[in-house]
Amino acid sequence: MPSAGDDKQLICVLCGASDATVEHVLPQTLLRKLGLDPNGPETALFRTPLCSASNHRGSALHRQLDVIELISTGQAPNPMTFARLAQWTAWVFMLLGVTRRVSEWPRDHAMDLLRQRFPCTPGVQPGTGNATSGTRVYAALADDSVAASELPRWAVALRKDPRVVLNASDQPVGGRLTSGSALVAADALRLGELVLLVVGPTWRSGAEHERRMDEAAARAGLTHLGSASRLGGLKTQAVSLDAISELFTTDPFDVRTEINLLPQDIRAAVEAFTGFGPDLVGAAQA
Ligand SMILES: [Zn+2]
Repeated sequence: MPSAGDDKQLICVLCGASDATVEHVLPQTLLRKLGLDPNGPETALFRTPLCSASNHRGSALHRQLDVIELISTGQAPNPMTFARLAQWTAWVFMLLGVTRRVSEWPRDHAMDLLRQRFPCTPGVQPGTGNATSGTRVYAALADDSVAASELPRWAVALRKDPRVVLNASDQPVGGRLTSGSALVAADALRLGELVLLVVGPTWRSGAEHERRMDEAAARAGLTHLGSASRLGGLKTQAVSLDAISELFTTDPFDVRTEINLLPQDIRAAVEAFTGFGPDLVGAAQA
């Protein structure tokens, strides 16, 4: 039982109800399998106040034994498990994200999606469909016997990011340098041997945008979960969690950052601003 805060009034992060309790965003059985104390300080990140209705819906998300098995063993019991893990991961990260300052989904949008998926009103059916559409989830199995190498960074433009300037046809044409937004493009988490990277929905950079994102992730040893079954499972990879969480960034101005995953007009604006030519910036992806 969580001990801290039991006697304080807790507010549900989704609906604001004041009768919330501290709930586990990750299943306690999974945390125990990974050798973690579900109520200890090292797992505090995975606990959040929820009302009973939304917690009930959240618990249902974890009742997927094949997903839990894949997380704890690295092996998928069946080919569909990779896709189910991708959905599970997106919702778990979204729930974790709204309680933190940074998230790969703009907060208001994430709250709307979460309230549909885990409705706080008893009797209201959870929304169906793929609400996290456009989100890409990557994974690898960590190999701690080798040191991780430095990774390039890839700038992306996130959908719903208020820093991305749209034209009258709702197409991305530029960016605001300062708006106080605390968005990150991606977030990474390690559970046992499994490393997960979630990248928020992006504006496309042109033909085969998703395939080129997957190639960028593959350079870090990460496999797109939607393709993992076809590719024969997850790779074992030397991993730096910090480097992987910065693999995709919303900041195109770092010298290590490749910009060919940005929409064309934003790319042109970045090139004009930095004086980089396409030869320099795009050479690695030719
Ligand atoms: Zn609630």
